[in-house]
Amino acid sequence: MTDYIVRATAADGQIRAFAATTRDLVEEARSRHATSPVATAALGRLLTAGVMMGSMMKNDTDVLTLQINGDGPIGGITVTADSKGDVKGYVQNPDVILPPKNGKLDVGGAVGIGLLTVIKDMGLKEPYSGQTILVTSEIAEDLTYYFANSEQVPSSVGLGVLMEKDNTVKCAGGFIVQLMPFARESVISRLEENVGKITSVTKLLEAGYTPEQLLADLTEGLDLEITDTMPARFYCNCSKKRVERAVASIGEKEIREMIADGKDIEVKCHFCNTAYTYTVEELQEILKRSRR
Ligand SMILES: [Zn+2]
Repeated sequence: MTDYIVRATAADGQIRAFAATTRDLVEEARSRHATSPVATAALGRLLTAGVMMGSMMKNDTDVLTLQINGDGPIGGITVTADSKGDVKGYVQNPDVILPPKNGKLDVGGAVGIGLLTVIKDMGLKEPYSGQTILVTSEIAEDLTYYFANSEQVPSSVGLGVLMEKDNTVKCAGGFIVQLMPFARESVISRLEENVGKITSVTKLLEAGYTPEQLLADLTEGLDLEITDTMPARFYCNCSKKRVERAVASIGEKEIREMIADGKDIEVKCHFCNTAYTYTVEELQEILKRSRR
């Protein structure tokens, strides 16, 4: 089963809902960044949320960025998604290892205390930016808190990443369910009841639940209407030209030193870990261009 996002409404539009299966894109992130199991879980959860939140945006050129910055050993997580199911991301310290907590990967411990920042660049002069504190640092609850407090949209977020014994990704996915302002009391209480029955997204994914089945359980008795499905993937739009800008920003003095060393340099894209090599001649060109 390849990755995809399902978008839906329920109770005559009083609820909007998203669910995704993201095993392949989380596994690609894991293999590109060589993340430890707890880093894979943390990054995988944020990638899953990001790809669903990206699909909430309207325009092809809209870009969503999710940043988690805590005082834990993982250092920080950054995810960027567009509205078409493309997502990419990285963690600052991919090799963090922590003992399990209550038999589970300790994502909260790896992230620590800190902030969640959501930036939506929708081509306006100023991108939208919202920031909330991390409540549990387990990511799903932190996004629930963000939606309620920063966007004033009562939401329920569930995210799960499960590893194989060999530390590859076995399954990953999640959901976001949101109440519209005109939602009736009866709809709200039924949704709360349904959400309360879902104790572990990971367990449901492991049992083979599809995004459609997740949504069916969440909106039981609330007339689920699936609007559309779209493929999701790990995708980075970097190129040697784009990464060159990062090289140029290092500063003139540093570039001169690299040229003096007389060796090729290798620069990696943060988001996908692709390595680009710049020869001394190319560094001289970059220097020339950056001085203009
Ligand atoms: Zn890249």
